[in-house]
Amino acid sequence: MSKPFVAKTPYEATHPTVLAVYCSDGRFTDAVEELAQHLGHERIDTLTLPGGPGLLNRWSADYLESDMVTRAANFLIQGHHIVEVLLLAHAGCGYYQSRHGALGADFVAEQQLKDLEAAAEELRKAHPGIEVHKYFVRPQGKKITFEALDSSES
Ligand SMILES: [Zn+2]
Repeated sequence: MSKPFVAKTPYEATHPTVLAVYCSDGRFTDAVEELAQHLGHERIDTLTLPGGPGLLNRWSADYLESDMVTRAANFLIQGHHIVEVLLLAHAGCGYYQSRHGALGADFVAEQQLKDLEAAAEELRKAHPGIEVHKYFVRPQGKKITFEALDSSES
């Protein structure tokens, strides 16, 4: 039998206190972790599904999907004592493209912003005192930019 692979990353028994909810789209995975580090979070819990935080809006997502994802988020926030959540939507998201693509890019972008807002509201209501930050992620040439959308509220 071959020896097990040993990661360079050390194991830390304590849970991270930040949860990032974003799309499974691997073109953004490393960049999201880089943003978290930039914000001072060496480690993060992650909840990744196609569509990311869009799944937390039960008014626009499929009800069963939304229910499952909402319960997963609540489980992590309570069980791991999460104090801060990052919600990230990205341009060109395949989930939104398949659901709303026929309605055009402007409609899709608007729906993503609405979903981020609804997701943030749900989480704040369910977990008073929690910090929620929203981002819109865009590829620009070879770069990935994160626009913070927090200016309008607490
Ligand atoms: Zn996506």
